[in-house]
Amino acid sequence: MQAVEITESACAPTPTLSVLVPVYNEIEVLPAFHQRMTAVLRASVDTYEVLYVNDGSSDGSLAWLEQLCGVDANVALVDLSRNFGKEIAMAAGLDHVRGEAVVVIDADLQDPPELIPQLLTQWRAGYDNVYARRRRREGETWLKKFSAAWFYRIIRKLSRVDIPQDTGDYRLLSRRAVESVRALREQHRLMKGLFAWVGYPSVAVAYDRDPRHAGHTKFNYWKLWNVAIEGITSFTIAPLKLATYFGLLVAVLAFIAMAVLIAKTWLYGDPVKGYPSLMCVILFLGGIQLTALGMLGEYIGRMFNEVKRRPLYFTKQYVPSRHGQR
Ligand code: UDP
Ligand code: MG
Repeated sequence: MQAVEITESACAPTPTLSVLVPVYNEIEVLPAFHQRMTAVLRASVDTYEVLYVNDGSSDGSLAWLEQLCGVDANVALVDLSRNFGKEIAMAAGLDHVRGEAVVVIDADLQDPPELIPQLLTQWRAGYDNVYARRRRREGETWLKKFSAAWFYRIIRKLSRVDIPQDTGDYRLLSRRAVESVRALREQHRLMKGLFAWVGYPSVAVAYDRDPRHAGHTKFNYWKLWNVAIEGITSFTIAPLKLATYFGLLVAVLAFIAMAVLIAKTWLYGDPVKGYPSLMCVILFLGGIQLTALGMLGEYIGRMFNEVKRRPLYFTKQYVPSRHGQR
């Protein structure tokens, strides 16, 4: 585990709220984001820190953040050794946040910071996991909306973990929820699945997701497809069971077909036809077997990665916030 080795005395007192922002090449939006975020936080909490996790940006985001640390005492920075992806960047952030409550938010202003007071209200009412649920999605293609809807539906059906639909990573977590998620050190992680998995009282706050403020999305469909596979394989072994039952079904059908063939040959002789049907059966079974093997492979590959027990990430530097006061 990449724990923080900064002594508490070197840090400011625990802030009420930490805001965790994973950043990967977001220089175009960071100034606007920070300005809007600061305005909201100043009005809603006494003490806060905004923890930016620089996930190996190559566009000047880091330089901007380092400079920001110098001028804004409420800013903290974790600089990862390379690009590890958003899920790991969030894990790194959770290891370093110090607040009594933590808000996880994207840097691109798709998640409006103005929702934070509502999240805080629910936290003060006793909820540990206050997640923001999208009412509508602006600026996203129908294919993305459609595939996202199906992803949530499938994962809810297949796993016993109820990942709320139309919910991203934007949420507020209580200290104990953060500690629980921190205890899960798997390499393959879908954070919003883990947030749901740890349990605790949860509540949704509805909001309208805005289009990206500037810059480009870092996720293409191939990446999203992989995120979906990651989500399914890390929460359920249902695909493996599916392979077993499908195999059984095909075996039973094959047995019936065999009985019919034997009976036919017996009664009417064997006129040696059937090359096309033979090819169909061979190709069909070959396809099914390869798919089932592939599914097995997905799980074995993940086991391979997990048993190495590598640290989730490495940090180049951690700059704690200097004080939690306004
Ligand atoms: N992000 C990251 N590492 C990555 C990709 C993205 O930290 O490898 C951050 C990115 O800077 C942003 C958030 O994750 O703050 C969401 O990324 P993006 O807006 O590209 O995703 P989308 O909203 O399109 O799903
Ligand atoms: Mg985005």
